[in-house]
Amino acid sequence: MNEISLADFHLTMQVLDNLDAGVVILDETYNVCAWNTFMQAYSGISSTQIMGRSLFDVVPDLPQSWLKNKIRSTFKLRMHSFSAWEDRPWVFRFLNFCPISSSSDIMYQNMTLTPLRSLSGEYKHICLTITDVTDIAKNKNHLHESNKQLTHLSITDRLTQLYNRGHWENCLADAFEYCQQTQTPATLVMFDIDHFKRVNDTFGHVAGDGVIKVIADVLRRTKRQTDIAGRYGGEEFGIILPGTSAELAGYFTERLRNRIEKETVFDDQRGIVKVTISLGVCEWNPKLSDYKSWLEKSDLALYESKKKGRNTTTIINCDDCYTDSKGEFILTAVEANTTIN
Ligand code: GH3
Ligand code: MG
Ligand code: MG
Repeated sequence: MNEISLADFHLTMQVLDNLDAGVVILDETYNVCAWNTFMQAYSGISSTQIMGRSLFDVVPDLPQSWLKNKIRSTFKLRMHSFSAWEDRPWVFRFLNFCPISSSSDIMYQNMTLTPLRSLSGEYKHICLTITDVTDIAKNKNHLHESNKQLTHLSITDRLTQLYNRGHWENCLADAFEYCQQTQTPATLVMFDIDHFKRVNDTFGHVAGDGVIKVIADVLRRTKRQTDIAGRYGGEEFGIILPGTSAELAGYFTERLRNRIEKETVFDDQRGIVKVTISLGVCEWNPKLSDYKSWLEKSDLALYESKKKGRNTTTIINCDDCYTDSKGEFILTAVEANTTIN
């Protein structure tokens, strides 16, 4: 090496060692030909320990077969390749010290693989450049988490943790469309707490809120995972039962009604609060024009349960006939309207 190229080499090494990135040069058999200060500092492996030895013999925890494949294809294609932290958070298991929390975290990394051309035009070396992207990754993960929380807040009712009215109605519109497209059954159940005003008047609003919460808990325990429950109004709830006929939904409503009647208690200083619910059930039918009419029909059935004396289920069918939860005929819409008026 003449004097000028030695001076150039000296400068180049200073640049490599002062880079805020890891630089590793390998030959075709994965032997290390360069290992800069960044790599030494984060791996704890000095360049004298690793130079001339196979990277995979010296560095533990490397994704060996993946990295070998990546190196081989970079040599073969003679083109840059890249590994992003989103796909593989790290290649080298380095720890990053965080001065704020005084803790260490795994360093998130991007890695570029560059095939190196020699003076004679051959490709016999490859350069791995490792950049620390922990801050970017953490911010992005934090943003993702915040967005998830915001989405949850925007669709959830605060008191009951069920879906709020807006989101639940969107689910109902989707369920209606799905039924129309697939002609598969689904049943809508609406229910309302009986004489809830009395609960508030006797025990106060805080106890009333407690009762609403308990009812939501019983509902969560009673419904299937795939049933979609929401708080429709103050003390009114809706549940969509996909793939379920009105007859089968009747078993669900009876189980729910019985559980609430027997188990729902809220212990207040002024006494024990017990409540019942009235339910309205309507199975999807092609005659229904939109999800709103489905909702209206279920509400009519619920209103009928109230008129019958509460703490009961009423099913309304597509011909506007009313039956009870056991399928026993009650009355037609005309008769129902007559009774209302
Ligand atoms: P019915 O059996 O006919 O349903 O009688 P009801 O007393 O339950 O019906 P009404 O609609 O007259 O009263 C509902 C009451 O529910 C009135 C309202 O103040 C109360 N309410 C609505 N939302 C809440 C809430 O979030 N918390 C509490 N504590 N009360 C609520
Ligand atoms: Mg009520
Ligand atoms: Mg009500």
